Amino acid sequence: MAQFKRKRRLFRRRKICRFCADSSLAIDYKDPRTLRFFTTERGKIIPRRVSGNCAKHQRQLTTAIKRARTIALMPYAATLSHY
Ligand SMILES: [Zn+2]
Repeated sequence: MAQFKRKRRLFRRRKICRFCADSSLAIDYKDPRTLRFFTTERGKIIPRRVSGNCAKHQRQLTTAIKRARTIALMPYAATLSHY
């Protein structure tokens, strides 16, 4: 356990925001393929601490996903609870 902890610390990497790193990658609500990268299979938005996005881009992304949902390009969080 202690070893695991140390290893994690040593190899901990600073996650980089994908949108900052790649300027050709645009946040567009009309592009669900890009947006889907940042949602779970169930359609939930992946939080910033997991995705590594910066605050600015995470905010844009959230807006884009919500916009995409309202025009039915993206799913809302899954409806599996009906089972
Ligand atoms: Zn960014």
